[in-house]
Amino acid sequence: MTSTAQPETAETNGAATDSIAVDNPATGELITTVPLLDAQALAELAARAREAQPQWEAIGPSGRARIMRRAQKWMLDNAERVLDTVVSETGKTYEDAQVADFGYTVSALGFWAKEGPKYLVDEHVPSWNNPGTTGKKLILRYAPVGLVGVIGPWNYPITNAFGDCIPALMAGNTVILKPSEVTPLSSLLMADMLRECGIPEDVFTVATGDGSTGAALIGEVDCVMFTGSTKTGKAVMRAAADALVPCYLELGGKDPMIVCSDANLERAANAAAFYSMNNAGQVCISVERCYVEAAVYDEFVEKVTDNVRALRQGAPTDVGTVDVGAVIFPPQLDIVDEHVRDAVDKGAKVLTGGHPATGPGRFYEPTVLVDVDHSMKIMREETFGPTLPIMKVRDADEAVRLANDSPYGLGASVFSKDSERGEQIARRLDVGAANVNDAMINYTVLELPMGGAKTSGIGSRHGAGGIRKYCSQQAIVVTARMAMKKELFMYPYKSRTSRMLAGAFKLMYGRGKRD
Ligand code: NDP
Repeated sequence: MTSTAQPETAETNGAATDSIAVDNPATGELITTVPLLDAQALAELAARAREAQPQWEAIGPSGRARIMRRAQKWMLDNAERVLDTVVSETGKTYEDAQVADFGYTVSALGFWAKEGPKYLVDEHVPSWNNPGTTGKKLILRYAPVGLVGVIGPWNYPITNAFGDCIPALMAGNTVILKPSEVTPLSSLLMADMLRECGIPEDVFTVATGDGSTGAALIGEVDCVMFTGSTKTGKAVMRAAADALVPCYLELGGKDPMIVCSDANLERAANAAAFYSMNNAGQVCISVERCYVEAAVYDEFVEKVTDNVRALRQGAPTDVGTVDVGAVIFPPQLDIVDEHVRDAVDKGAKVLTGGHPATGPGRFYEPTVLVDVDHSMKIMREETFGPTLPIMKVRDADEAVRLANDSPYGLGASVFSKDSERGEQIARRLDVGAANVNDAMINYTVLELPMGGAKTSGIGSRHGAGGIRKYCSQQAIVVTARMAMKKELFMYPYKSRTSRMLAGAFKLMYGRGKRD
């Protein structure tokens, strides 16, 4: 495997006045530059996408599904190229790219190709509540909104960017994807893929650029799907309000893990180490804090620390060479270190790690902290790095209280051998998704919604709602050909018909008890 792969279109995507350098965070090497598209370039892309939309809609669900299935096979046939591209611009390990970027996307392409058309079938709705609609045909139709703008972050440059384009396209929309400025190459590769798989021109385009490009995109589209930080999400929602278009926000998280005294400790410790450190902790739903019942606290901490201490970190040179990769976004290294320093200053103890790692690339040592509390940033703010603070709690009630003591509400996990008890605890957590005896796995369950509560987001991806959100719901009411010349309530108004209607209302709605 090489680490300098780049898609063919890296240099060519619309008129641009400036360019952005893309480098490899694990080595610091420059890979290439991409255009920084301005508002005018965005307007041109949008005009072309709008022109292409009717033809794409007319292809129908099965025609669109065929292209998605071809893309799925293309991914498998070009796996090395895909992984090289992701690894080169993120500095993550091959395994992190394989499971979450590659694995998710091949699964999602097949899922939406198969299930998408089913979710969009017209619904024929019975009406029993209104005598005026008796005998009419009532149809709920899911029509594409038109042009969807998807804005993505840098942590999973395929999954959290292109992944959301798949249902938007399957619904019959054209899509403009604005990837993060630090990881645009994976999205450009996805554009190459769809082109090779036969998608018509201008149906899917990638607008490379920075935050200003994302802001300009919002004014051009009929619907915005945004994944990123809560801070930027608020700005996106304000801009969407000005444009009066719907927006869906998948934002930050501070996911708690609760370990009960009856947990399978081996499994819980392995999960805590993996789900806090994989992708170098740069996962919206990574385990960011851990609450452990006092009876098993010492044993759990020892197991997790041994596990984390054994992790190999560095620039991946091939499969299986390292466990923890680079910090993708330059400012993130300072945020992670600031959270660790703040915790230590307030009395936390570092059991392993605790510093930025040396090397030509950007790395932070896999870090385990204890003696932490909620006065510390590391327990309250999104760290988004390879850190795991562990806190001892009296019992599950205290764990639930602390888990809910957060502005975020993305995901959570509960470990207990009594899965019924685990489920009951999960129901008490104010989060969009909770896993019992596992973590993070809900993202791969495409049948269920994935979205955040509180400041972690608005709306969700996946499931029926994950494709219907890219549609406008059109109601069609059809009156049969054999209908009467006119309805009873039409002109001219007559006292006899008014009395008849009053009787009909009484008959229909007036029966039954009055409380
Ligand atoms: P940011 O919010 O910084 O950026 C996200 C995207 O928005 C980028 O493409 C960025 O462009 C763009 N952008 C920046 N400013 C604007 C603007 N004013 N208008 C429109 N778009 C703009 O997030 P990060 O890229 O730093 O990603 C990390 C965050 O994403 C974390 O908080 C993480 O929790 C969250 N996330 C949430 C997920 C979820 O499903 N809930 C999944 C994955 C990550 P550019 O980068 O070029 O500046």
